[in-house]
This record gives sequence, structure tokens and C-alpha cells, in this order.
Amino acid sequence: MKSLKNLNEAQLEAVQYNAGPHLIVAGAGSGKTKVLTHKIAYLIEDGFEPSNILSLTFTNKAANEMKERITAMIGVTKAKKLWMGTFHSILARILRTEAESLNYKKNFSIYDRDDSVSLVSNVLLALNLSIDNKSASAIQHQISSLKNKMILPDEYAKHHAQTLPEKKLAQVYIEYNKRLFENNSMDFDDLLLKPIQLFNNHQRILAKYKKEFKYVLVDEFQDTNKAQYEIIKLLVTGRTKLCVVGDDAQSIYGWRGAELENMLNFEKDFPKTKVFRLEQNYRSTKRILKAAGSVIKNNPDQIAKTLWTDNEEGELLSIIRCSDEKDEAFQISKQIKKEITTQKISLKDIAVLYRINSQSRALEEALRREKLPYKIVGGIEFYKRKEIKDLVGYLRVLANQSDEESLLRIMNFPQRGIGNTSISKMIAFARKLDLTLFTTMSRIFEVIEVKERIQKNVKQFKILLDKYIDLKNQLSLTELTSALVDELGILKMYKEENSVESRQRYDNVQELLSGIAEFSKANKGATIDDFLSEVSLIAGVDSYEEEDNYVTLMTIHSSKGLEFPFVFISGCEEDIFPLNQKFDSDSKIEEERRLFYVAVTRAERKVILSYARSRYRFGEVAYQDVSRFIGELDSETIKELNPGGRKSSSRRRRAYYDELYQEDFDDFNQERRSLRVGSRVSHEKFGEGKILAINGVGDGQKISIAFEELGTKHLLTKFAKLTII
Ligand code: ATP
Ligand code: MG
Repeated sequence: MKSLKNLNEAQLEAVQYNAGPHLIVAGAGSGKTKVLTHKIAYLIEDGFEPSNILSLTFTNKAANEMKERITAMIGVTKAKKLWMGTFHSILARILRTEAESLNYKKNFSIYDRDDSVSLVSNVLLALNLSIDNKSASAIQHQISSLKNKMILPDEYAKHHAQTLPEKKLAQVYIEYNKRLFENNSMDFDDLLLKPIQLFNNHQRILAKYKKEFKYVLVDEFQDTNKAQYEIIKLLVTGRTKLCVVGDDAQSIYGWRGAELENMLNFEKDFPKTKVFRLEQNYRSTKRILKAAGSVIKNNPDQIAKTLWTDNEEGELLSIIRCSDEKDEAFQISKQIKKEITTQKISLKDIAVLYRINSQSRALEEALRREKLPYKIVGGIEFYKRKEIKDLVGYLRVLANQSDEESLLRIMNFPQRGIGNTSISKMIAFARKLDLTLFTTMSRIFEVIEVKERIQKNVKQFKILLDKYIDLKNQLSLTELTSALVDELGILKMYKEENSVESRQRYDNVQELLSGIAEFSKANKGATIDDFLSEVSLIAGVDSYEEEDNYVTLMTIHSSKGLEFPFVFISGCEEDIFPLNQKFDSDSKIEEERRLFYVAVTRAERKVILSYARSRYRFGEVAYQDVSRFIGELDSETIKELNPGGRKSSSRRRRAYYDELYQEDFDDFNQERRSLRVGSRVSHEKFGEGKILAINGVGDGQKISIAFEELGTKHLLTKFAKLTII
């Protein structure tokens, strides 16, 4: 049997076990997913009906990889009949079949977060309500949390809503759900909630699925949340075979409501559970495993596990110290080039991982500059992200008032009560009189079909745009964008919303501001148009998508379950990885540590960690401390690639900086010869370098300089004896 080949003894035993519920707890790369795929193939080879098997995973990528492997063993006809996919996709399929029992039509739509937010904002308009000036997306987030806790609108209104804002929220929640239903739509949270309702209220339907799913398998069980576990418990009877696999050390979705408890309670909830352990790792070198182990052991309360490997000792983990995020991106690209020429590997063997999405901007730019094809997996390229397009939309309109697409994009962003109906009427008016939409805004009072209240909103918006069109000739690009972002209140809005998405959006907008600041520094006197052409060049061409050999860029969260020969882990700095350590509790730090463990254990042959001494964050230079996780790595497993930054000071790097921080020396006057960020200076002892940051004033003023030979140094300006060159 193909399904019993290439398995070790422990794996073989787990694959063939069929007596009752079983749990496979094992470390990274020990073949948990492999056991699941082989088990499914084995069952089918043994005569089990594929349509009686339900296999649940967390990402589409993981589901597709499993499908491919199973298909290779049992053929496509049988593999197709399996119930295999993510929780959301499988449940959506069940909901479609059973829609009528929930009084839905089969063709219901599924609303993503943006759709839900726009529904909430319509509801707010219709009810003429505002809840403490909260944005629609903050309210959508509250509704979503309620749904996650399985608190329905009526129950919330009756038992939870006490204060006035809560009572208003209840009103919105009720109306929101009512409209979802009227629109024959479900939001993301409904895809987990509705099946529970369906199964609880329709015993006949539940019985049907219990009978259908004779075997239920779950990968990455450590990351299931309350509702997902509830669904598993509902579907499984005494007769159902249940096999779940997981690794408590890789539980990384606590912030999204995943409960590691599910894994710890499993044996209680399912009596007579047999526990299997796999101890041999097939993925990584000895060195990588030792390094990963030395970090994760700092977490208390782990399920005891052994993990060893027969693979070779392997290379030391490399650490690259960088002066800032641009330098980091450049050094990573350079290292990638080096590895592909010296190591007989190709680009697709390489993954560059990062903790937060916004880190991808600098990386994308460097990779493009170095002509290294890349692909962002499970995410969107920086300049294609919604919040970035929205802001760039503003800049486009300021640059070009006839850009109707961009104007439409920002007309109601942030929400200012100009709905789609009014916009359509304005467009009709514009077309009739052959005006641009922008001009129509000045004549909005002539568009009589638009309500007076909305006419006023349009007028306000037009005044705002006019103000910035005027300011663009008076302010620098950086000042202009910061002022605009401030006035629009975008950052404040994302901050208040305080959801996972909004925090990402917040970071991304900050990152855009940093990008603009850097761009202006490198191109003195740059205008909006200059910046926009740069952006279109970066975002526009998608020639890489044709390539099938590319570097993979992704967040560590999306790398779960995957493996690559070479793995870069960028941004190993306190406050990035671990993220926000200052405000966090122990349990959050532990989750960050597990995330670090996940990152390191994705690698087969080599891990390259990088950190920057300073980084543009929130629009200004921040000094970064190296991540505690680097400190926790067993010192015998690591080496610094560029101790003191010496090796990174190649001529190319200098040329690269020169290009980035081109100074116009010709019209230097005495005043401008003061020390400024970006200036090149010479130091008696340390040689030549570039000023990265200047902090403070007077005697206490500190200056950070990236010296070509010695890396970054932080000095007191007073004693530094610098000459500007
Ligand atoms: P993770 O915890 O990261 O999800 P995992 O435990 O699911 O890891 P797999 O992805 O199933 O591990 O396996 C890791 C690698 O080891 C894969 O490339 C797999 O093909 C290989 N592998 C697993 N078991 C064996 C074996 N018995 N012989 C050869 N290779 C194996
Ligand atoms: Mg796996």
C-alpha cells in the first residue's frame, strides 16, 4: 500500500490506529501532517468511503497541499469526494446545502470585513445614530467580538446592554443582523455561528452529518477557537472516529480567540483518547532544532516532548546586524543572491518571514531593486493594501483633480455620510453637463436630488480638498501628508477601533508616512507627482507573477505548517518581535515565543536572522534593541555574519546609500552645513559614515551614525568631533 510507505514506526502505528479518538501531540516537522494525509489515503485504500471523511485545516494553502499529496496516493476521483478544507470553507458548504432550514436561500453571499463595515455604516446612517463618535469599523469589531462569544443580538439587548452606548450598540447589532438576513448574506463570524444554531435546532440535520462524517480529522488543533471546537464536539458521536494533531508549542492564534485549552481538555472531553507522540524530526538540521529548542524552553507549562533528528549537524544560524530597515532589506537581498550562487538552491527554496505586514514595504523595494522576483503569500503587496490605496487616492486627487477613480475611492473615506446613491446622482449630473466629478462637487447645491444634509457633507469635503491643493505648494511632501493624515483622523480611527485588522492598518499608514519621509530625504524637493510615479512603478508592474521561481515573503503566522530550505527571519527586535512587549502580559510574550519557534522550525537547512539598530517607525527614527529571542538562542548554534558591521560595508552598499540619500552639495551654505539626518560625516577614529538619527538637544544630544567600517554607533554629539563631508 502506498499509504504505508515512508513512515517510521510511531507514524505507522498512528496511521493504522482506528479504535477511537486519538490525539497526536508532537513537535515541529515530526510528520503530523504527513500522518494525517497517509491516514486518509490508508483509510480509502482500505475501502473507506471518501465522502465519509471530514478533514479540517486552517489555511487554504495547507488544505491544497494535503489534497495534492493524497491525490498522488489514491488518485483524483476518490480524492475529490473527500470533505477537505478550512473550517470556513467546509462550513459554508454545509450552510449552502441547509440554507433553507435557516430561512436563507442557497445562493447567500458571504460578506468579508469590508462589506460588513459598510453595512454597519449604512445602518448607522439609517438609524441616524452615533455611538461615542466611534467609527463604523470599530462598531463592526464590537459586533464581531459578540458573535465570537456566541452572544446573539436579542440576548445582548436583553441581558448585556446596560449603559446608553451599549443600548445603542444593541440597536445597531439587531438592525445589522436583520439586514444581513434581508440581504440573504452572512458575515465571516456567521460561518461558524450559524452551523452551531443549525445543528442545535435541527436534530435531523445534525443526525445526517453525524452519520455522514464517520471519520473527522483536524490538523493544527492547537489553534481551534471555542466555536470550532464546539462544532467538532457536536458532530462527533461515540461511533465517530476522531483524530486531531497539534503542537502546543506552536499555538499562535490566542489573539484571535484560539484556545489552547481545547488541546489540554481533549482527553477529558473524549474519554479513552489514545495519545500518540512522534519524536523524530525530518525537516531540519540538528543545529536548527537545538536553536529552536533553546528558545522555547523558556516557556513554562509545556507538554513535555522530545524532538530529535537524524539529519546532519548543518550550518550555524546566521545573524545579520543592520543599521536600519533599508539596510536590512538590502543585506537580505544581497545574502539571497549569495546563497543562490554558492549553494545550488533556487529562489523558491527561500522564504523571508516577518512579524508584521508593514515590514514588507522595505523588503519589497529592495527585492525589486535587486531584480529578485518575489511573491507575498497570504497577504497583499504593500501598495495594494486598502488603507494605502485610500491614502494614495488622496494624494492622487491633490495631484490631479480629474482622477475620478481616486476621487470615488476617497469620497466617503473616512466616512462622511456620502452614500453610493448620492454619488451616482452626482455622476449623472456631471455626465449630463459634461463636468468632472470634482467640479460637480463645487456645484453640489444644483444637484437637487441629493439631500441637503449630504450636499453639506460634499461641500465640506470639497473645502478640505481645496485646502490641501493649495497647501501642496507651500508645504513639503512630508509635512503635507502628515497634516492630511492628521486632519482626516485616520490613525486615531484605527487606534480606537483596536482590532487586529485596524492595528495592521495603523502600522501600514505609519509605514507609508515613514516611506514618504525617506523618499523626500533621498530626493530633495520631491513633489507629490514624483512620489506618485515612484509608487506606480513599484505597485504597477506585475511581471513577476508570471514567474514560478520566486522568493516567498510572508508573515510568520501564514508560514504555519510550511517548510523551506532557507528561512530569513527579519526584524528580530524588541517591540517588533516580540511585538509591543512593554504593554504585554507574560502569556502574550509566551505566544510571541511560540511564534519565534514556529519561524525557526520552518527551515530545513539554514536560518538567517536579521535586526536593525534603528528603524523608521511611526514617521520617525526609533532605536531598536535586539530581540530577547536572539539572546535566548543557544550561543553554540549562532554566528554573526557581520560583527561590527564590517562585512556589510561593500562598495555596492555605499553606492546604494549614495543613491538613496543623494545630497545636493553644490548649493551648500553655512547654515545647511549643520549636522542633519542623512549627512555624510567623518569621525577621527571611526572613519566615514552617514547620520541615521539625531535625538535630543544641547549637551545631551545623541547622534547615531552608520560607519562604513564599524557599523552603527551612538555618540554624544558634543564629544563626537565630526566633520561634514
Ligand atoms: P509542523 O509542526 O511544522 O506542521 P509536521 O509535524 O506537520 O510539522 P510534516 O510537515 O508532516 O510535519 O513533515 C515535515 C517534513 O518531514 C515533510 O517534508 C515530510 O515529508 C517529512 N517526513 C515526515 N515523516 C517522514 C518520514 N517518515 N520519512 C521521510 N520524511 C518524512
Ligand atoms: Mg503540519
